[in-house]
Amino acid sequence: MDHQNTMKTKAVFLDRDGTLNADSVHYIKSADEFHLFNYTADALRILTRLGYMNILITNQSALGRNMITVKEIENIHLRLKTAIRRVGAEIHGIYYCPHLPDDNCECRKPKIGNLEKAIRDFNIDIGKSFFIGDSFKDIQTGAAVGCRTIFVRTGIDSSSIKTLKKWNPRPDFIAENLLEAAQLIECIERNRDL
Ligand SMILES: [Mg+2]
Ligand SMILES: [Zn+2]
Repeated sequence: MDHQNTMKTKAVFLDRDGTLNADSVHYIKSADEFHLFNYTADALRILTRLGYMNILITNQSALGRNMITVKEIENIHLRLKTAIRRVGAEIHGIYYCPHLPDDNCECRKPKIGNLEKAIRDFNIDIGKSFFIGDSFKDIQTGAAVGCRTIFVRTGIDSSSIKTLKKWNPRPDFIAENLLEAAQLIECIERNRDL
């Protein structure tokens, strides 16, 4: 048996805005504008209990636009991790792209730079992992590395729901929200054990 392979762990890669917290067309520029959905902690607790690494992969071009500082974004993420830990769940890693769409970096979704870095850092078994997000970019990013993908309907871009049928790649699953997505993963786990 491949020893390296047995050491691998599974992950749920998560988009941030519109998936864990309410998104805004004006960007999230401070901790005061960051509002978790009321079920996010429960959803992350389910995934933590199932043994997943919960890893955020997020585009934060508000940084490149100088609408928020690195210090403030780190503050938001520290508060997020603390709030989640308080309910017995864990966010194991946060990878954000600070660049603008025109910067042509390798880490802005749908590019897979940040996702590949997380896969290396945590020695992730992609075949056992999921990507959850509210936009086409998230589905593209997850599918590009071979994750199963779950689209959640909690984003602010309602056009994405209308065009969903034409997407290529299409999400493997569609859930109302992050809690339903976590319950779906729980179901898949249970069936695998039967
Ligand atoms: Mg989003
Ligand atoms: Zn980037």
